[in-house]
Amino acid sequence: MKRFFLTTAIDYVNSRPHLGTAYEKITADVIARYKRLSGIETHFLMGNDEHSQNVYKRALERGVDPRVYCDQMEQEFRTVWKQLDISFDDFIRTTEPRHKAAVQKLAQRCFDKGDIYEGQYEGWYCVSCEAFKQEKDLVDGKCPLHPTLTPEWIREKNYFFRLSKYRDALLEHFRAHPDFLRPDNRRNEMLRLLESGLDDISVSRAGQLWGIPLPFAPENVVYVWFDALINYAAAVGYATDDARFEKWWPADLHVVGKDITRFHTVVWPAMLMSAGMALPGQVFGHGFVNFGGQRMSKSLGTSLDPSDVAQRFGPDPLRLYMVKEISYGGDGDFSWERYEERYNVDLANNLGNLVSRLAAMAEKYRGSRLSPTGSGGRLAQVADAALTRYRASMDGFALHDGAAAAFQIIDAANEFIAETAPWTLARAGGDAGRLDEVLFEVAEALRVAAVLLRPIIPGSAAEILQRVGDTTPPGALRLERDGRWRADGVRQIAKGSPLWPRVEGAGSGGGGPVAFAEASAPKEGPPLRQPTLQQSAYVEAGLQTRLTQEIIVEEKPIGATGAPDVSVTKPAEDTRISINDFMKVDLRVARVLEAEAVPKSKKLLKLKVDTGTDQRTIVAGIAEAYQPEQLVGRTIVIVANLQPAKLMGVESNGMVLAASPDGGKPTLIGFDEAVPPGSRVR
Ligand SMILES: [Zn+2]
Repeated sequence: MKRFFLTTAIDYVNSRPHLGTAYEKITADVIARYKRLSGIETHFLMGNDEHSQNVYKRALERGVDPRVYCDQMEQEFRTVWKQLDISFDDFIRTTEPRHKAAVQKLAQRCFDKGDIYEGQYEGWYCVSCEAFKQEKDLVDGKCPLHPTLTPEWIREKNYFFRLSKYRDALLEHFRAHPDFLRPDNRRNEMLRLLESGLDDISVSRAGQLWGIPLPFAPENVVYVWFDALINYAAAVGYATDDARFEKWWPADLHVVGKDITRFHTVVWPAMLMSAGMALPGQVFGHGFVNFGGQRMSKSLGTSLDPSDVAQRFGPDPLRLYMVKEISYGGDGDFSWERYEERYNVDLANNLGNLVSRLAAMAEKYRGSRLSPTGSGGRLAQVADAALTRYRASMDGFALHDGAAAAFQIIDAANEFIAETAPWTLARAGGDAGRLDEVLFEVAEALRVAAVLLRPIIPGSAAEILQRVGDTTPPGALRLERDGRWRADGVRQIAKGSPLWPRVEGAGSGGGGPVAFAEASAPKEGPPLRQPTLQQSAYVEAGLQTRLTQEIIVEEKPIGATGAPDVSVTKPAEDTRISINDFMKVDLRVARVLEAEAVPKSKKLLKLKVDTGTDQRTIVAGIAEAYQPEQLVGRTIVIVANLQPAKLMGVESNGMVLAASPDGGKPTLIGFDEAVPPGSRVR
């Protein structure tokens, strides 16, 4: 039986989890869930690093016993991980007896091997890093990671670990295992470091109370890094449970931040070699997540509490963002603007809308019961190709590409609906057999996409599976069986409230998140701005929405702004608009499906366009420049959130953008390359 043991770094508990910590746990969770989905017995370890002097100090500042403080922080961490739907199997704390036993056993073995010796340490120590620093590591005398702190000059009797002795063996290991450290740029960094030689490292601190005593010199405590690394072996029974250790060691994968790959790929393997233990299979050094282009910092206001985000929107939009928008291994950025955009595009418009449309059409046309019709057409091919791409990506830790593969199916299903227009098939004289096929295939595409998305957005994927009639318990899903296209089985489609109501306003200044939260609050109500489900159903059924007002519009190119002359009496006044005002205009790529002249009008054409999420009629003042047949199939840009207006008796839902030179004919805006309908223009 295959098994997979993966770990994340354990966290210092002197502050709450932040976005960067959350990023590591979310991506590791996606890997753990993917392994389980692949049928591999998986053990996913996380935990807290408690033997830090900073933790000790923080507890004393608060006037609490350090152990009590760590107990409180454990609850805080567990709460956040629960909010983010992190599925760890074990959570280790370095103050636990099982950890202490492992640290003492491993240290003793290194000592017995002659790899730990007594010496005098004299040098710089950054308290915030909890790391010894060499002169060459400092910038202007300061730790580059903590430029506001002055490192301490330490002179104390220490125990040293003979790291230098393992340089050649480490180089050999790196060469024999090209995948030991991923991604490749980190591997190259470590190879250069190894080639330049290694110094022995201090592994104890004298005169401190908070930590694990060295078994052979109990007046010293084990240096926090030497202590912390051993958690990975301690958690699976090293020194306490041989059978368990035998089963799970060595770890298959350590997921860690790029700043601590040296500890994990140089110090840790050398410790294991010295103790005669097997080395972990692989270390993945992920990048950092910046906030709005800046390194996260509480004092600069560039930090984000992942718990807040999860409480407002549920865990899945943040999880999807972290996985899909950041190339795994590289650095990434979080901004509210981008979060809102991806939320609206991927979840509200794309996936959420597809789920709602399928449920509405299945209910309206087939009483919510869809029967299989045959082997499946183009969508089945897209789903098969997506599964292949997904597997290769996820196996290679290209998590972003795995997410994109799942969304290929969703995009294809939305296009398929636009092309096959089920609402026309459902009309009198339509094709009932084809309608059966189309609805079943859309349901199946959604099912396959949800299986692939299960590791990334677990709760939402389970909800979608339930709505498309898949009754497999989510934990029993298997990629090999359930990730493939199925042409059998009656599907009972369930309706529900919109999964992700569209939101606006995340990007507005400091109050952004609040506005965003308010907009998303009415979970039960129809999505904002987005054509509501009811509206879409009307449009699909070819029904007219009732007009509340009739607007008389002078005939002129609709693309022209017609702005009145701006008064110049106050020249100093700034008439520029904010980015938020601009972002209120929802500019989208659309494709022209049909075009015809508006009777009795010289200038107006009536267009039917596909906006990626719906089909609608827009009246455009471009008849003098374009013949209707020239426009069919053409990609255009529209204002998608304009209030409806009636032009020469035809209701227009949006506006087509065109350049309108003075005295000349309007020219439609186009693109250099093919852009799919629904893409945002800004
Ligand atoms: Zn530092």
